[in-house]
Amino acid sequence: MKKFIMIFAISLTTILFTLFGLYQLMNARSFQVFGGLVEQVNTEEKVVALTFDDGPTEKTDDILKILADTKVKATFFLNGNMIKKNPEAAKSIVQAGHELGNHTYSHQRMIFKSYSFIENEIERTDEAIRKVGYKGDIHFRPPNGKKLFLLPFYLNKHDKKTIMWNIEPDSDPEIAGSSDRIFQHVNETIEPGSIILLHVMYDNEERESLEAVEKIIHTLKDKGYSFQTVSELLESGSD
Ligand SMILES: [Zn+2]
Repeated sequence: MKKFIMIFAISLTTILFTLFGLYQLMNARSFQVFGGLVEQVNTEEKVVALTFDDGPTEKTDDILKILADTKVKATFFLNGNMIKKNPEAAKSIVQAGHELGNHTYSHQRMIFKSYSFIENEIERTDEAIRKVGYKGDIHFRPPNGKKLFLLPFYLNKHDKKTIMWNIEPDSDPEIAGSSDRIFQHVNETIEPGSIILLHVMYDNEERESLEAVEKIIHTLKDKGYSFQTVSELLESGSD
């Protein structure tokens, strides 16, 4: 009986460690099993990238206006189903000279999904991105940052870079509710090579992020930073 309890305890501990490990792996911003993943670019230069996830929606013009007024080029990780719904919005992003990235077709977490499901989500989105006239490299960002084995395997096989982020003010509920706190968080944590993630395509809290963008841009410019697209930032990096 004693032996049985021992074996049971060891097995349970092993299972718990494995689950904990998988959880860490699924959420890790700087590591995945296959291929590279970028959360920040290694550079001494004061260059950073602004990235916007989700959409496009009918709100796209609001962010495009701010970027045009401040002469900043950004990177938009879009969902294929939303491009299909709002092709004109996606075209305006391309025509304004911004970079487009793939954020899957239907914004589901790419874990516990079949290989063909993942393939389909990414390829349909690449097609939608090409259809609205985008010609550059298409990098990938997983919804909610989640990945385990099949997604990195697919991306590595197709030479697609996984772009994460190192600054995400509006994912923290303590910060997301106020454009001032969003701005402060970016201002305090900014470093050369940073990739800033913001959500500006929907209403409610995301309006706070939109309102923070202009102040973030002006303040970082005053500090000597310049803004690049993700592809440009990758070129600036030393690795
Ligand atoms: Zn997203």
